[in-house]
Amino acid sequence: MKKIKIIGAGLAGSEAALQLADAGWKVSLFEMRPHQTTPAHETGKFAEVVCSNSFKSKLITTSSGLLKEEMKLLGCKLLPIAEKCSVPAGNALAVDRGKFSELVTDIISKHPNIKIIREEVTELDDELTIVATGPLTSAKLTKNLIELIGEEQLYFFDAIAPIMDVESLDYDVVYRKTRYDKGEADYLNCPFTKEEYYEFVEALDAGEKHEAHEFEAEFFADIKFRFYENCTPIEELARRGKDTLRFGVMRPVGLEIPGTDKRPYAVIQLRAENNENTSYNLVGCQTMLKYGEQQRIFRLIPGLQNAEFLRFGSIHRNTYLNGPHILNPDLSLKAKPNIFIAGQLAGVEGYVESILGGMLVARNVSKLGLGNERDLFRIPHLCETGVSQDNCVPKEGFGNEKDATEFRNERKYIELDCHIERSRNMQSFPINLSFDSAQDDINLLPETTISGQLWRHLIIPTENFQPMNANFGLLPSFEKKIRDKKLKKQMLAERSLEDLKKFNQSLK
Ligand SMILES: Cc1cc2nc3c(=O)[nH]c(=O)nc-3n(C[C@H](O)[C@H](O)[C@H](O)COP(=O)(O)OP(=O)(O)OC[C@H]3O[C@@H](n4cnc5c(N)ncnc54)[C@H](O)[C@@H]3O)c2cc1C
Repeated sequence: MKKIKIIGAGLAGSEAALQLADAGWKVSLFEMRPHQTTPAHETGKFAEVVCSNSFKSKLITTSSGLLKEEMKLLGCKLLPIAEKCSVPAGNALAVDRGKFSELVTDIISKHPNIKIIREEVTELDDELTIVATGPLTSAKLTKNLIELIGEEQLYFFDAIAPIMDVESLDYDVVYRKTRYDKGEADYLNCPFTKEEYYEFVEALDAGEKHEAHEFEAEFFADIKFRFYENCTPIEELARRGKDTLRFGVMRPVGLEIPGTDKRPYAVIQLRAENNENTSYNLVGCQTMLKYGEQQRIFRLIPGLQNAEFLRFGSIHRNTYLNGPHILNPDLSLKAKPNIFIAGQLAGVEGYVESILGGMLVARNVSKLGLGNERDLFRIPHLCETGVSQDNCVPKEGFGNEKDATEFRNERKYIELDCHIERSRNMQSFPINLSFDSAQDDINLLPETTISGQLWRHLIIPTENFQPMNANFGLLPSFEKKIRDKKLKKQMLAERSLEDLKKFNQSLK
């Protein structure tokens, strides 16, 4: 029987445990609570929702609603339990948090394939393991992770700037340009007059902020490490002096309005969030302002008066890995491929997204050793040419069909050996799939789905990796521009669910 260790019985760990246990795996589930707790959890129960009790909208015309519908199609275990524990919340799925974690704990505790071990794991060993220890991973395990992957690949908090829907910007005002016209004109620029600038700075300074959690206040007060200055909230910079921003992140030099030599008084730049250029983030605008205040104040930016927010900014304590640099496409660590990372630690953000993380990893793990591991690991290193394995032939070619058959058989053995080594964790196992070679080699979910795009977000290198939650900006647009926003969301949702059903069919 296949065995696996899962560390962390939060949302991702509980989902992964139930997925794998139902698939016949023997799961050892480690949870450090209640003996040792995190600064946010209050009970010793599994899948505890630590703050809001909402899993957000149920409507498929919202990104979160669509994600949940996709996850149901993929066979999510926790969402049906959440539905059983739901409380009235209009179009949202909100849960009675006590009942929810009680029921999850009960189901897991009674599962014949799950053994619960109530202890903190401080070191990762050579067993097949899923790490789902979340944004508040214990200090000792964090230290061990740093030893494995390097300090620069692990972050301790999010500093997120708002993300806008590109179609909601006013292009009579906003212009495309890179500073001093160096390289491609990748940035969108919002030019301020003097009056507009000071109005914006005053609004930032006076804006109402989120209170940090108690444990975070302590954390932020003590923060001295390298990312701090880059992550200073924009409202804090505004507070330092009325001209601080225009000599810093809002400096206008080299950003003269095209076709004129007119330099704005200040400029806010927007940078693309995805390859499809459907969503843009406000450069340097990480913020702790309340969401309503963000909407009001950032809409003062010239050209953004009707901007639609795909995600609001935030700054909070969050341990997460630089996924695209250190994860294989199946979400295992390149440095130690017997270790899979699930949930918020991998770089998703949010309750439902973390559950998705548990599902994705369980899905990948469950294929190991069940005879179809090649779906996941085509092991391109066997072909030194780097071509896909099916096209791989010996240098000298095949003499006849018998040679060809032998060659294929031989290869099967090598694969099997590799698989066995992988299960045993041979640290040097050279799974070094570049994304290009891996893309065809693993069953990534369709790119028209939010779940597929969140998975890609964790493995496709980006300049500035940040945790991501469900949003429509992740999805490729239609060739023809659809002006009616409601209709567009409906069409995006229908396309996603249809593609996912086809994808599910194709696997049968
Ligand atoms: C304070 C706070 C508030 C949040 N509020 C919201 C919100 O309102 N809405 C939202 O959508 N998202 C919110 N999030 C973000 C996120 O969705 C949740 O943190 C979510 O629970 C993450 O799921 P997870 O499974 O990755 O981690 P968790 O649910 O945190 O589970 C991790 C588990 O691992 C255990 N663990 C940690 N280290 C070890 C170890 N070494 N050995 C054994 N066990 C260990 C922990 O005790 C915990 O049970 C919030 C996050 C925080 C920190």
